[in-house]
Amino acid sequence: MIDAENLLVLPGFVNAHYHSYDVLQKGLLEDMPFDVWALHSQPAYLGPRSARELRLRTLIGAVDCLRHGITTVQDMNSLVPMDEPTLDTILAAYAESGLRVVFSAAVRDVAALDIAPFLPAEAPEAVQALVRGAPADTRTQLDFVEAQIRRLDPLPPWLRWGLSPSGPQRSSRALLEGIAKLSERYNLPVLTHVYETRAQAAKARSLYAAQGGSMLRWLQEVGLLHDRLTVVHGV
Ligand SMILES: [Zn+2]
Repeated sequence: MIDAENLLVLPGFVNAHYHSYDVLQKGLLEDMPFDVWALHSQPAYLGPRSARELRLRTLIGAVDCLRHGITTVQDMNSLVPMDEPTLDTILAAYAESGLRVVFSAAVRDVAALDIAPFLPAEAPEAVQALVRGAPADTRTQLDFVEAQIRRLDPLPPWLRWGLSPSGPQRSSRALLEGIAKLSERYNLPVLTHVYETRAQAAKARSLYAAQGGSMLRWLQEVGLLHDRLTVVHGV
């Protein structure tokens, strides 16, 4: 029995979009427009963190959620590096916390950043290369994700897998179709960033001209516009 006099009883809140790697970055990059912020905030830019930091980072975020009534998060996580020890450390911290988590390892295989089309053409090649970054291997990432789903079965209580192409424009057709197959094979939800900013809407018009400039029609074409999809942002 809990004495709830003068209190309200609510169901637990769900944070449908969460990046636990940002937990220790609060206040670090304030007041930046999104497209500029994205050039600074990627976890890969901070380099690999110690297992201790990964554990604490995950726990601090989980405690913050639980203290404020959030009982479930969908954590779209960029593993740095994308390997089993990094994943195991984070999942063990979640299991310890008791928070419900839909966990996905974010994948992307297109190097261009969202604002790259708006870089001045006269920007030196060295600058353009820095902004573009290097593309990642499609098969390696899909194989890693599927191998983890099979290796860590069953997951600890309260944890569930999700699948995350970081964004349609950051993913090749092969990567998106590979994720669609995994979603179907393992009946898993898909979380992806769609239209985070107006700049991305403008980019979609050129990238998906054959689909009427629509990122959503493109998602439909690659088999991802289904009832397991979470469209994140949707500006
Ligand atoms: Zn996000």
